[in-house]
Amino acid sequence: MGHLQENLGRVRQRIREAAMRAGREPESIRLLAVTKTVPVERIQEVVDAGVDLLGENRVQELLDKHPQVRGPVRWHMIGTLQTNKVKYIYDKVALIHSLDRLSLAQAIDRQAARLGRPIDCLVEVNVAGEESKHGVDRRELISFIRNVTAFEGIHICGLMTMAPYVDDPEEARPVFRDLYQLSREVDELGLQRVEMRHLSMGMSNDFEVAVEEGATIVRIGSSLFGGRS
Ligand SMILES: *Cc1c(COP(=O)(O)O)cnc(C)c1O
Repeated sequence: MGHLQENLGRVRQRIREAAMRAGREPESIRLLAVTKTVPVERIQEVVDAGVDLLGENRVQELLDKHPQVRGPVRWHMIGTLQTNKVKYIYDKVALIHSLDRLSLAQAIDRQAARLGRPIDCLVEVNVAGEESKHGVDRRELISFIRNVTAFEGIHICGLMTMAPYVDDPEEARPVFRDLYQLSREVDELGLQRVEMRHLSMGMSNDFEVAVEEGATIVRIGSSLFGGRS
């Protein structure tokens, strides 16, 4: 019990220190608690301790937990999203981190029309070019984003990436630095409904480096809740 609060305090402290090392305002970084496989009671504990952003990577889990967690929380979809599942979550999530193909953009756009407002999305970028990873190839990022601007129901709020898993988080630094650089390049285009406000990068093993390189949302699971079985 107290365990969770300690973990939370420690993660917040590490975010703060990383921000300060980089000369950034600690308040400019948001902590997204990744709740996949975590039971509702434990999620409720971190919410009661002040966490207000929750992330799930599977639609079904999000749908199960969404109505059960109480408090002023917002849910984000952080995992790969199938086009035929957008209809289940479009009105339950504040941000979709995993926009990575035009067919998905089209599906989101269709639901945005029902909502009567654009849906906030991040474009997931496969910075390191790993075959096993989802995300837009960095060389195709700008043309992809230009194509997405045709959909009036999509508001691109920034970029997301998953760095390759490495033992030494320093090795992930170039990936985060590149994502930051890409966001600057996109920003300079001044496209409609495209705003490079967020960089969703950094997980339990590498979030401090990500904060130093400009992350505005860090996605933390195991450092808060412990290892997943
Ligand atoms: C599981 C997951 C995380 C959190 O991973 P931890 O290493 O447990 O912090 C972050 N982002 C995505 C997309 C995930 O699926």
